[in-house]
Amino acid sequence: LRRTKITDLLKSTETGHTVNVKGWVRTKRGNKQVNFIALNDGTCIHNLQIVVDVPNFDEALLKRITTGAAISINGEVCESTGSGQAVEVLAKEIVVMGECDPDKYPLQPKKHSLEFLREIAHLRFRTNTFGAIARVRHAMIFAVHEFYTKKGFLNIHTPIITASDAEGAGEMFKVTTLDYENLPRTEEGQINYKEDFFGKATNLTVSGQLEGELAALALGEVYTFGPTFRAENSNTSRHLAEFWMIEPEMAFYDLDDNMDLAEEFLKYLIKYALDNCMDDLKFLSSRLQEEEKNKKADERTMELIEKLQFVLSNDFIRLPYSDAIDILKNSKPNKKGKFKYPIDGFGSDLQSEHERYLVEKHFKKPVILTDYPKDIKAFYMKQNDDGRTVRAMDVLFPQIGEIIGGSQREEDLDKLTARMKEMDIPAEEMWWYLDTRRFGSVVHSGFGLGFERLMLFVTGMGNIRDVIPFPRTPKTAEF
Ligand code: ATP
Ligand code: MG
Ligand code: MG
Ligand code: MG
Repeated sequence: LRRTKITDLLKSTETGHTVNVKGWVRTKRGNKQVNFIALNDGTCIHNLQIVVDVPNFDEALLKRITTGAAISINGEVCESTGSGQAVEVLAKEIVVMGECDPDKYPLQPKKHSLEFLREIAHLRFRTNTFGAIARVRHAMIFAVHEFYTKKGFLNIHTPIITASDAEGAGEMFKVTTLDYENLPRTEEGQINYKEDFFGKATNLTVSGQLEGELAALALGEVYTFGPTFRAENSNTSRHLAEFWMIEPEMAFYDLDDNMDLAEEFLKYLIKYALDNCMDDLKFLSSRLQEEEKNKKADERTMELIEKLQFVLSNDFIRLPYSDAIDILKNSKPNKKGKFKYPIDGFGSDLQSEHERYLVEKHFKKPVILTDYPKDIKAFYMKQNDDGRTVRAMDVLFPQIGEIIGGSQREEDLDKLTARMKEMDIPAEEMWWYLDTRRFGSVVHSGFGLGFERLMLFVTGMGNIRDVIPFPRTPKTAEF
């Protein structure tokens, strides 16, 4: 008898046949006559109810069926009278595949806090919360590839170990093959990474963009979807040291085309989640309700759905950064009338509190800010004629703030090299990048969507560590 997955079993109302199911016990309850086992196999949020007629089984066997144990059951599919599901399984044969000492098992039938689960990250897949997260993540990964495949984009793998620093923000993890104890030192005793095995200072990629541009300026429309590493030194709920980024890069797109694509892409992903992940999203929102005790589970679910619908049903506001600064300078965000980080004026970098204010309070729509000061953006962005702004765009979402960062790229060789010089970026080392501007340069644009920021938004979870299977932060690096 082949294993039937619980998700498939629960989709059908057919009864009377015999199936095999395998999974992990969530709970066992009952009396001397009948036991009820809630079985989960990771394929859906729902547990399958197994009914055990106690007198038909060996007492010692039933004792070994505890929370966390792995079991295999052959049984008859029956109509369910209670449990809120159409069918349950009446056990005929039970095999305990893997025992689990309930006194030592860290996961108890009760709900655990997200903080506690982070400490036992190796077991958190066993919980409903992380099962749901894993399934939504998978659905979103699929939707990303589906979106770009339908549009005819090519998926390009860009290097993980690279000599380039796209962002220039100094947040790179250095890569070395040398023994840490014996790293070459400068006279002052600083580690000298320049003398590395590769003959060059290398680092883990902070963005696949520069390499993506090389591909786009030959293939037209491409995208990368890869791991991205940033040695972020702040501990926020929106930053990880290792995250995944989707970076489309397109020849012949100006900034307006770029914004159109970003808006269409985000709406596609959110619609996909609403159409395909509702069971898991319902569970995740009701779980969060426990942390806000005054709200009922379905109120919380309605709020999540409304938030997702809010993005789908609104045209994103598009406005220049300088207008946003004027709005922020003249606004009273709360009772105190002040932001935590005050806005000085043109040149201030926006924090998520400012971004969220614009979206949630001022416009009540998603916002795309454009034309940022060149001094707070990377070297490759197309310069405007005013001499002080660049054709950048940040997409701002409720709950999140910046979810996408992108720009039209500077395609003019002279302007690009002049800007690199101003920013002390050695043009000789970037000859390969500049070649695209030397030989058949065209207008082109692209952006980066942080996959975990999208996951935060779609699931309503509050901390980025809880939407990635293995968060890399200074505190969590056991495996
Ligand atoms: P932020 O201002 O939030 O630090 P950023 O401007 O440094 O983001 P970009 O370089 O524009 O980020 O990267 C593109 C996108 O990648 C961001 O819009 C965001 O969605 C995501 N992102 C950036 N840094 C991180 C991080 N440390 N962890 C998770 N996602 C990130
Ligand atoms: Mg940053
Ligand atoms: Mg930013
Ligand atoms: Mg950005």
